[in-house]
Amino acid sequence: MANRLMDALGIKGYRVTLERSIITDSLQKVEPHFTAEGLYRFLQKRRSRVSLATIYRTLSALTQMRLIKKFDFGEGTYRYELNITNGNKDTHHHHLVCVKCGKLIDFESDFFPQLNHLAEKLSQEHRFIIIDHELTLFGYCKQCASD
Ligand SMILES: [Zn+2]
Ligand SMILES: [Zn+2]
Ligand SMILES: [Zn+2]
Repeated sequence: MANRLMDALGIKGYRVTLERSIITDSLQKVEPHFTAEGLYRFLQKRRSRVSLATIYRTLSALTQMRLIKKFDFGEGTYRYELNITNGNKDTHHHHLVCVKCGKLIDFESDFFPQLNHLAEKLSQEHRFIIIDHELTLFGYCKQCASD
């Protein structure tokens, strides 16, 4: 998948520097919902000398190209996730977020026909071309609810 990401960057005319290739390569190895700071610590542990500023700039460029998704789960920092199809497996999914411990649960939701129906309706009503959507549900996880 690393190569797929690099290919996508090349196609989009993105200048691939050594630092950027270190960052994109690490995106498949770092935890799935990473922060810029988390990625920085991950790279430091591997003795990669990439500055936090370069990480921010690269993540911002990758977000603009829609190769990664940026989320605000109300933690005061952004989380990022790869948004590139891995083989036949679609990466599209949504999130349950525990507001107490920050636990994140991925779920697939496009079995919600009503969601697609709503999207179609809004698209027609506002002549708005919908290219993607996000759904985040906030609450308490099993552990936190029983405390
Ligand atoms: Zn929790
Ligand atoms: Zn996720
Ligand atoms: Zn969806």
